Amino acid sequence: MRVILSLLSISLLFSVRAQTPARATPDVVLTSIGALTIQPIVHASLVLSTPNLTIYADPTGGAANYIGIKQPDVILITDIHGDHFDLKTISAIRQPNTILVAPKAVADLMPDSLKDKLIILNNGDRVSKLNISITALPMYNLPEDPQSRHTKGRGNGYVLGIGGKNLYISGDTQGIPEMRALKDIDIAFVCMNLPYTMDINEAADAVLAFKPKIVYPYHYRGQGGPSDVATFKKMVEEKNKNIEVRLRNWYPVK
Ligand code: ZN
Repeated sequence: MRVILSLLSISLLFSVRAQTPARATPDVVLTSIGALTIQPIVHASLVLSTPNLTIYADPTGGAANYIGIKQPDVILITDIHGDHFDLKTISAIRQPNTILVAPKAVADLMPDSLKDKLIILNNGDRVSKLNISITALPMYNLPEDPQSRHTKGRGNGYVLGIGGKNLYISGDTQGIPEMRALKDIDIAFVCMNLPYTMDINEAADAVLAFKPKIVYPYHYRGQGGPSDVATFKKMVEEKNKNIEVRLRNWYPVK
């Protein structure tokens, strides 16, 4: 009997393993509402979860990318591009009670079927829901130009207040004044890839200006391959020892 049971559990283990996609090991940070788990998924997509709340940011790549993770209470979307706004994935993972948070430009691309729990936030807007606060920030390319890939006012970065911690998700942006002026950020996710956002020098300079306690380079694969995030880490940590740069694998092999 014992042999059969252990054989059963081994086969169960293998079947779970077979379904769960490769992803970076999550990190855990303590907050006043419990342990906050930070799970990189891929490129710009991540999952933040506390014991009672699961937040997906920019879910992409299909429901398979989220196997083994709790269903989303909140889905944040930063911008209209396919690496941030993936209708197919959102439709597949969204639950009847999932709150979607998006800027108007993204909302305009959504079918009515997704709009019943939608909160439209534009730059500067703030909302409190499910015990967290969500503030929308600008994200854009410099110099400002109507022809640029990311025009000011269209997409959102977000600052989340979760259990006394402030988390910043940059979206696709350069080192804009609004990022540099951020205060009291505990954890930041900062993009760095060319030609879409900024290079590691500009990203390091911006991070040294707003001094988050922890920063994750994310969204770092661009033309010419991934950005040199190891050098980014060196540049930041050499100039400010109070900032921890966390390098994680945002591009797990499928
Ligand atoms: Zn992007």
